[in-house]
Parts: sequence; C-alpha cells; structure tokens
Amino acid sequence: MTDEPQKSAPHACCGGHSHSKPKPHAPIVVPVGADVKTSYICPMCPGVRSAVPASCPICGMALEPEFVTAEAGPNHELEYMRTRFWGAAVLTIPVFAIEMARHFGHNADFLAPSFVARLQMAFATPVVLWAGWPFFQRGWQSVRTGNLNMFTLIALGTGVAWTYSMLAVLVPGIFPAGFNGEHGLNIYFESAAVIITLALLGQVLELRARDKTGSAIRDLLNLAPKTARVIRDGAEVEIKLEDIAVGDHLRVRPGERVPVDGVIVEGASHLDESMLTGEAMPVAKASGDAVTGGTFNREGSFIFHAEKVGRDTMLARIVQLVSEAQRSRAPILRHPCRS
Ligand SMILES: [Zn+2]
Repeated sequence: MTDEPQKSAPHACCGGHSHSKPKPHAPIVVPVGADVKTSYICPMCPGVRSAVPASCPICGMALEPEFVTAEAGPNHELEYMRTRFWGAAVLTIPVFAIEMARHFGHNADFLAPSFVARLQMAFATPVVLWAGWPFFQRGWQSVRTGNLNMFTLIALGTGVAWTYSMLAVLVPGIFPAGFNGEHGLNIYFESAAVIITLALLGQVLELRARDKTGSAIRDLLNLAPKTARVIRDGAEVEIKLEDIAVGDHLRVRPGERVPVDGVIVEGASHLDESMLTGEAMPVAKASGDAVTGGTFNREGSFIFHAEKVGRDTMLARIVQLVSEAQRSRAPILRHPCRS
C-alpha cells in the first residue's frame, strides 16, 4: 500500500477535486449556536473531505463532522451498525452452533446433511447480504478507487465463502468429485457469518469510542453560556455568544458563567475557576483582573472588557487541543492501520 494513495485519484467525496496537496486538517472550534455548514472529514486520512456523511474513500472509516458543536445529534452511523450487528449476532449463533456440533461429532443422524446445509444457508444469507452490506459497499468503493483496505478483505473473504457455499448447496454437480469431503462438499456459511458479525462488533466499538470523545468535547463547549449581556449606550442588551466583539463591555451577574475572556473594568466578585485549575476555592477578582470564558461567577456583579472572543478564547483552545488529541494517532498506528 502506498503511503499517500490520495495523491492520484480524484475523490467522489469532495466534489471530484484531486488531493494533490493533502493538508493536515486543524479542527475548527465553533462558538455555541453558530450557524456553520458542516463538512465531514476522516479522522485518519488528511485531506479527505465531504459535504455529506459518507465513508472515507481511502480507509473506509465513517467520516465525522469537522466542526465540534455544542448540540449533539443522534449518531446515525452508530445506530446503523448497531442494528446490523444485533441482527447478525442473532442469526449467526444458530449457524455457529450447528457447525460446532458437527465438528464435535454430535451430528444428528436423523437430519440429512443437505438439510443441515440448507438450514445454515437460511440463517447465514441475511447475515452476509443484509448485515454485511456496508462492508460490500466499502469494499467495492475501495476497489473502484484503488485504495485497498480492511473492507476489501472482509468483502472478498465473506463474498467468496458465501458464493461458493451457495453453489455447493444449490448446484453441487458443477464441482468435480475431488472437492468432496467426508460429508460431501464443504460449506463455509458459518465462517462468512462469524466474520461479518465480528467485523460489525468492531465497527460498533470503534464508533462508540469516537462518540464518547465527541460528547466530552461537547461538555467542554457547554461551559460557555449561550448568551451574554452587552452594555450598549448605557443599557444592557442580551446578545448571542457569537455576536460578542472584542472591546464589548459585558455584564456578568451572580450565578452566571463568564462568556468570553477579558479584564474586569467595574465591580468585583469571586469566580470558580475549577474548569481551568481544578481548584474549587473561589478566586477573588476586582477591577483590572483577567477573567476567563466558561468560569463561574459565584457572587457579586461585574462588568468586563472583552479581549478574546470566538476561537481565540482559552476555552476554545482547550477544546481544540482535545479535538486534535482525538484525531492524532500513535506513530506505530500510522502505517499498519491503512490495511
Ligand atoms: Zn480515511
């Protein structure tokens, strides 16, 4: 496998432009509630970008939203894989049990081998064709774009095992006599079904882990309030967080969170800065002291001068570091995980 397969082929994922200069994607932090057109990127392959949720044309992983937003929608990819995994598991258990019973010599003599084979066929076929469908889609995509990956192997392995077994059950006459084993032609429905089920389990575990990290980031983003009170012409006006500009004077009342970073110009208070320091003891703040967006105002009301807003705030930078850590890989994973 080449190191940079995205160099050659134009991708359907990104409107067909060529990835001649793959750029490492820096996660972009968006203030709460901001109206941003989401694009989807691969956490593993720099340069892959899509306007709609899809699977990566290089490694086959589900793409994830580039922008971290405070609102969490349902994870459709996880639901999709989870449904297929449970369907596959329920149908694979009987196929596996029949096959194991045969191996351990418990073949019920009153059941004809051809009946046992058809029973396995009935259970394994929906596992391969329905539950395994996403693997065939991704496997086909990998062959079409020339980026062979794990899904190529799964699709090829299970596809060949299932097709051969179907022919062996339905038209056994086409195989030469030398193919016959102890009980006639060998069939591999159980192998195909078990591989699909385990691969789906892997997908569910991976997507769940990624979902959990995303929710940790959303918890951080939710530390910033959604609105703030700005002082305009002597009156307090409530505005959205993303509408705050550098230089605005903002009022923070007791029990509220500080919206952005700045310096107090009027009033005094005690702030809970445990989100930064881990120390729950309130810190005294007076005129001239710096305040950080996301910290909690315990008592007292104050007005501060906004100095850093949007993605420049301390909170946004923390979120950005967490996102980057989530997307970076240990050096040892860089090469083998492609295939
Ligand atoms: Zn990828």
